Amino acid sequence: MGTVIPSAEEMFRITGGAAPSEMNPWFNFLKLLERSAKVMGLDTGYYKILATPKRILEVQLPVKMDDGRIEVFVGWRVQHNDARGPCKGGIRYHPAVNEDEVKALAAWMSIKTAVVDIPYGGAKGGIRVDPHKLSPNELERLTRRFAWAIAPIIGVDRDIPAPDVYTSPREMAWIYDTYSQIVGYPEPGVITGKPLELGGSEGRKEATARGLQYTVEEAIKVLNIDPKKATAAVQGYGNAGYFSAKFMHELGMKVVAVSDSRGAIYNPDGLDPDAVLKHKKETGSVKDFPGATNIDPDPRVGNAKLLELDVDVLIPAAIENVITKENVDKIKAKIVAEAANGPTTPEADLVLHEKGILVIPDVLANAGGVTVSYFEWVQARTREWWDIETVRQKLRVRMTKSFRDIYNLHREKNIDMRTAAYWLAIDRIVAAMRLRGIWP
Ligand code: GLU
Repeated sequence: MGTVIPSAEEMFRITGGAAPSEMNPWFNFLKLLERSAKVMGLDTGYYKILATPKRILEVQLPVKMDDGRIEVFVGWRVQHNDARGPCKGGIRYHPAVNEDEVKALAAWMSIKTAVVDIPYGGAKGGIRVDPHKLSPNELERLTRRFAWAIAPIIGVDRDIPAPDVYTSPREMAWIYDTYSQIVGYPEPGVITGKPLELGGSEGRKEATARGLQYTVEEAIKVLNIDPKKATAAVQGYGNAGYFSAKFMHELGMKVVAVSDSRGAIYNPDGLDPDAVLKHKKETGSVKDFPGATNIDPDPRVGNAKLLELDVDVLIPAAIENVITKENVDKIKAKIVAEAANGPTTPEADLVLHEKGILVIPDVLANAGGVTVSYFEWVQARTREWWDIETVRQKLRVRMTKSFRDIYNLHREKNIDMRTAAYWLAIDRIVAAMRLRGIWP
């Protein structure tokens, strides 16, 4: 049994992290791991394994652009841990993607799949690209090149990608096809988040927000909040953000503010999420929505005021590091439900806990996405398809149980919700590693 836990700083140096700041997601993961390891008394050896990704693949992606020029992009697939099963996690297209970010996102997937107890490890992929600047044909060539480049390490029993920021069923269809062409037969189980016509699952598109809804329902129960009298604000209006707004609205809450990367809008009487989506589709942004006031955009995260509104439920559904030590003092929400991955920095997290704000951490709140991915994978392998009610019911059971397990641990040990989630997950991953042993 090891005794001394090396610090996050030390593990960051050993794993070749770039710059150890509050804005580096890999450093933040290591800090959360260190905090949880100390609280739970984790063995040093297993701590070091979890503080190191299992495999990192960096790939060069030359793409013939529509004008005949060759452009070269860079992408990554990181597999963090596979003790509990094949690696699992999405692929992100974003101009700011870097190796440390993908490492963190992969590690969060290991924690997340263990939190909801599905038989997977964690992985993540990313391409540093602004997809809005590419034509659909260029995006297809880029996606297929990436699928080809990572094909040696993915597979139905190896590593199963899925959508993430700025990727959708369309990209999943291209990856499915490319991989199937390589192996010589259709392999629908190699990727999830596929279009329904190709063996996607009912309910996958709404899954992240649907899972979040089930955890928010539990959270408002323990806090005695009546949803009909409650308010919500949602940062980000992509897949997770839009559906989160819609489901909070369906619960009876007033969704008073939403935002995207171009602006934020506020209406104290509540917004209609579907009307806002229509406006965004027509104009390219939620801003200037009729009847709402535009509120201060923050050039870095798309808005700042929205996060500081006095609402019952705050849902960050965009990117990492938006609740930081700079603005955490101004957060007034009663519940922070993290639809995004890593929206709260470890420093800010402690302050939220001290302030008595109930955080439903990302690894629980947004785990509905990967849970329905797991359902899709099971359906693809059995060639048997479930209806939407079956998917929702199975999802609710898992999300509710996970929320209660974590909430109870948080109360019993007087630790924050995130540390409780990590504790539960790390226990499961380490149990698998102990049983399998270290070999060769
Ligand atoms: N990208 C999503 C996440 O961060 C879904 C991953 C998946 O379905 O594998 O959880």
